[in-house]
Amino acid sequence: MSSTETLATFDSLGLNSDLLNTVKSLGFTSPTPIQEEFIPVALTGVDCIGQARTGTGKTAAFALPVLQKLKPKSQHVQGIVLAPTRELSEQVEQEFRSLASGSPCETVLTGGGRPIGPQIAALGRYPQVVVGTPGRVIDLIQRKVLDLSHVSTVVLDEADRMLDIGFRKDIERILRACSSDHQTLLLSATLPEQVQRLADRFMNHPERVDLSEENVVVETIEQFYCTVEQRNKFNLLIRLLVQERPSQAIVFCRTKRGAHEIYSKIQKHLPDVAEIHGDLQQRKREQVIRRLRDGRVRLVIATDIVGRGIDISGISHIVNYDLPEGSDDYIHRVGRTGRISSVSDGRAFTFVKPDQGDELTKIEVRINKLLQEYQFDGCDAFDAREVQTVQEDEAFEPTPASESEWDAIFDELD
Ligand code: ADP
Ligand code: MG
Repeated sequence: MSSTETLATFDSLGLNSDLLNTVKSLGFTSPTPIQEEFIPVALTGVDCIGQARTGTGKTAAFALPVLQKLKPKSQHVQGIVLAPTRELSEQVEQEFRSLASGSPCETVLTGGGRPIGPQIAALGRYPQVVVGTPGRVIDLIQRKVLDLSHVSTVVLDEADRMLDIGFRKDIERILRACSSDHQTLLLSATLPEQVQRLADRFMNHPERVDLSEENVVVETIEQFYCTVEQRNKFNLLIRLLVQERPSQAIVFCRTKRGAHEIYSKIQKHLPDVAEIHGDLQQRKREQVIRRLRDGRVRLVIATDIVGRGIDISGISHIVNYDLPEGSDDYIHRVGRTGRISSVSDGRAFTFVKPDQGDELTKIEVRINKLLQEYQFDGCDAFDAREVQTVQEDEAFEPTPASESEWDAIFDELD
């Protein structure tokens, strides 16, 4: 990550010794820049907005101050963390749990898409911290099993995405259900208008910790574009995979349907492929993420909402099969590679249709960097105009039944 991080230590941030020990036992040797700046401010108790790109350790930046403030003897919920999706709330809760391992803190996950019964039961065991998606939290408040009137810290994680998904009303209701003198911590990779409005309405003169410089895609990620007609995208993807041989890749599409179509096509040719998007059942989505993390899945076809924030360190390649809707989404997608613990630096590829030059330029302005045109072996460029869509059956071998090494398959395809 950034070079500024190497000089900082956790010791000077104002954290108690239990938390310092836990942080060390987790192998966090030094705080990330957002942690270094956000934690001391949050510990003072003021409202705070933290802005930094995905993968920079924002979870610990808010979780550690929340943990430090907890009164272990209290039987009330003292901290509530809202996150946009089930997957993200699950990740936050896991990180919370590990950071709380040295403190007497009980956390409860209240994500939607899971049976509510066990969550209600868990709330009966007096957790100090609740992590959940806004919809489910509202549900639990309405059932009168979740009482937020003693909450001292509210965290809005990935606030920009929560608003994108349409959680504004739910978030406002939850904030009104909390005690009036709570501290609000808002974390976001970007700070668009609507997040600013939410902050203006519900936060009390927030301090802003802005590391949006860091928000520009890390320098070490190599970023390329390929010009291609829509009908040739699939062939281009295959050629790209053959040439790049990613250890793990995510292919981003704009629509659920698009993602599913590519998945259906590609899984006929390659093993260890999965799809992940909003149409997939929760259980299935979790399974895909687990398999991706375990390295059992090598290629995932994803849409933005589900792909975002998913914390997986081994991703070597990102392919923007469709251009992201906005340049912030570009940053989120590309941020899936080159993560903190990533062994190798990432590579990102963006497919651009001939009439999308302006959109590409917007991205380049946003990241303040020109993407390079990708060169295919043996030719100057993949000629979008001349290559006809090859009939699938002629072009590729069928998927081998075994989980055989991709390399062999790539050799065959090459
Ligand atoms: P963000 O919310 O900014 O996207 P996360 O909080 O999910 O980022 O952190 C990304 C990964 O980095 C997690 O696996 C987390 O455990 C790890 N991490 C966080 N802080 C540190 C640190 N100081 N040193 C090393 N790894 C860290
Ligand atoms: Mg996060």
